Amino acid sequence: MTIVGAGASGLISAILLSRKGHSVTILERQKKAGKKILASGNGKCNIGNRSPTIAHYHSDNPPFVKALLDRYDTADVIKLFGSLGIHIAESKDGKLFPMSLQASSVVEILLYEIEILGVEIVYDCELLAISQEDELFTLDTTQGQMISSHLLIASGSEASPQLGGNRSGIDIASTIGHNTIPSMPSLVQLTTDEKWVSRVSGVKVESLVKLYANGEYITQREGDILFTDYGISGLAILDISRSVGEHLATYSYCELSIDIAPHITKEQLTQIFLSYADPKSEKPIDIWLMGFVNKKLISIIKEQSKCRAKLLSQLNRKEINKLIYTIKNLKLSISNTRGFKGAEVATGGVDTRDVDPQTMQSKIVKNLYFTGEILDIDGDRGGFNFHFAWTSAMRLADHFTIQA
Ligand SMILES: Cc1cc2nc3c(=O)[nH]c(=O)nc-3n(C[C@H](O)[C@H](O)[C@H](O)COP(=O)(O)OP(=O)(O)OC[C@H]3O[C@@H](n4cnc5c(N)ncnc54)[C@H](O)[C@@H]3O)c2cc1C
Repeated sequence: MTIVGAGASGLISAILLSRKGHSVTILERQKKAGKKILASGNGKCNIGNRSPTIAHYHSDNPPFVKALLDRYDTADVIKLFGSLGIHIAESKDGKLFPMSLQASSVVEILLYEIEILGVEIVYDCELLAISQEDELFTLDTTQGQMISSHLLIASGSEASPQLGGNRSGIDIASTIGHNTIPSMPSLVQLTTDEKWVSRVSGVKVESLVKLYANGEYITQREGDILFTDYGISGLAILDISRSVGEHLATYSYCELSIDIAPHITKEQLTQIFLSYADPKSEKPIDIWLMGFVNKKLISIIKEQSKCRAKLLSQLNRKEINKLIYTIKNLKLSISNTRGFKGAEVATGGVDTRDVDPQTMQSKIVKNLYFTGEILDIDGDRGGFNFHFAWTSAMRLADHFTIQA
């Protein structure tokens, strides 16, 4: 078997196939293997999740993902990594990590196993095109032509090109007859044309973020947000970015409404504000607001609420209500996502209707297989993408046989 891509699903496929006695060679276009694993989970590698349910995956063909999720669960992933000597620990919110919390250790252990099993990785070798004749593939690569009877394309998606992401595998699959679903960046930061964000660049707050498209409520996510020079980042933003991308793609006007005091109701906030309001006080409003919200956001809150009061003595009930409304509904119009460069994953890819979910074999080209993110399946943040990368590799290896 020749495997294209020494990433998450390519490396695990190689290990599992080799353990079953198959001879495996990996072609990798970069100088290093597992670059996205190395960068994953902020270097800690969020390897999987306690509850990999279908709701966490996105695809044009959900039954394909379901077929895999029904067969392989978290226990299978823990067992797989246990077989490599990687003990898995679980965080309170159900994310799985290697006990070492080091993505680099995961890659080193995978590469050790690869070496012990005698799998060759040919680095700096990019697959450019394939053709098949008499059940043999001819692979055109940057290191010349190669022949293989069985081929796995595990080349991932174009997310994070700086880590090797590219769509060459998807394009090659398309040229040999597979339908492909258009790709879009996901788990990605968002950009804005609004000038005020650069003034608060670096401010990080826990928020509830609501997405409106053409004024209509779409969805919401809770978590950190981080204002940046170009727009907005943070976990809640990565989580909502897929929906934003979908609506931007249909030319909708996308606006975020950000509640920067998500754990307190409007009524509670009103009570608090009123209890500190003092019509006789000459305290500046800015100083007064510092007692409740991040001070860097105060000028923005005042602007958006059109608060004219400068001193506490000038603040009337109506202005207090406007301030509270703005704190719970800070508006930010979105111009775009940060593109594939900022994305952890890409949507779309090879249409899974052209792939057998029992074997990962192409229905169009015999002895050709696909695993991982090259397929039209992307998961939410939280270890779901690796779960699919590992389990698609397990599915392939469990069913792979070479017929004489
Ligand atoms: C910054 C970042 C953080 C992430 N963190 C997490 C996380 O914590 N948890 C999680 O579940 N997911 C995470 N992901 C997503 C996860 O990394 C991917 O979903 C997963 O790596 C996909 O595995 P894969 O095997 O399909 O592709 P990849 O791991 O991307 O591997 C594909 C390999 O194929 C090679 N290749 C591509 N084209 C060719 C070609 N034509 N010829 C030869 N080689 C080729 C590439 O160089 C690459 O090495 C993260 C992604 C990024 C970018």
